[in-house]
Amino acid sequence: LLSCENVRKTFGTNVVLDDLSLEVGEHQVIALIGASGSGKSTLLRCVNLLTGIDDGTIRLDGEDITDPRVNPDVVRRRIGMVFQSYNLFPHMTVLKNITLAPARVHKRAAAEIRDQAMEWLTRVGLADKADSYPDRLSGGQQQRVAIVRALVNNPRLLLLDEVTSALDPELVGEVLTMIRGLKDEGMTMVLATHEMGFARQVADQVVFLDGGRVLEAGPPAQVLGEPTEARTRQFLARII
Ligand code: ATP
Ligand code: MG
Repeated sequence: LLSCENVRKTFGTNVVLDDLSLEVGEHQVIALIGASGSGKSTLLRCVNLLTGIDDGTIRLDGEDITDPRVNPDVVRRRIGMVFQSYNLFPHMTVLKNITLAPARVHKRAAAEIRDQAMEWLTRVGLADKADSYPDRLSGGQQQRVAIVRALVNNPRLLLLDEVTSALDPELVGEVLTMIRGLKDEGMTMVLATHEMGFARQVADQVVFLDGGRVLEAGPPAQVLGEPTEARTRQFLARII
C-alpha cells in the first residue's frame, strides 16, 4: 500500500533520512522506533507530503506521490495524520472539529459527514461529547477526537506521531485501545512511538531508525526481543 524507496531527506547539511526504504502492506501496522532525532517524525511528514524529499520515491497504492506533478492536497485526502499535540480548534465543538475539514475538502454532503462523525464518536464512546468544546475533555478524549477527525476522510493510511506522548499515563490506555480497535478493523497504520509494550502488541513490523536509516526491521518479537544490532540493544536497554 505504501512504499518508500531509497528516500533521502536533508535539512541543510543535516542528512535526516538516508537511503531509507520501507514497505507497508495493506492492513499492516508498522511501529517506527528510535532515539530522539532519528527521523521518525520527518519520515511521517514526508509521507504526508508536508515536506519534500531530496531523493528517492514514495508510492501510495503504486502511485508515485513524490512526483512534482502530483497535487499534495489530493494525496493528503487519502492519508490521515495525527500528531502528539492534538491541535483541536478550541472555539469549535467536537463535532465541528471533526466535520470541518472533510466538508471543505471533499464537498461531501454535510449530513453524510455528520452521520459518519457521530458513528465514529459512538464507537469510541464519545457521542455524548459531540457538542462539547475541547477544553471540557480530558487529554485522552481530545486525542481520540483528533483520531476520529483523521478517520472521517476515510483514509487509506493513518499516520500517528507519538499520539500518546503528551498524555498523562492514566489516559494513555484509552488511546492505545482505540488504535488496537482500528487495527482489528483492518486500518493500515504507521506509528512513531516510544511505547515499546504497545509496539509489541499492535505492530506487525517494528522498524528501528538510527540516524535516518533503517537499522533493523522485523516482527516485534524479533526486533524488541532478540535484536541483532548492538545499537538496537543499546536503545532498548535505555528506554525500558
Ligand atoms: P523525536 O523522538 O524526538 O520525536 P524524531 O525521530 O521524530 O525525534 P525528527 O523530528 O524526525 O526526529 O528529527 C530528525 C532530525 O531532523 C533532527 O536532527 C531534527 O533536528 C531535524 N529536523 C526536523 N525538522 C526540521 C526542520 N524543519 N528544519 C531543520 N531540521 C529539522
Ligand atoms: Mg518525532
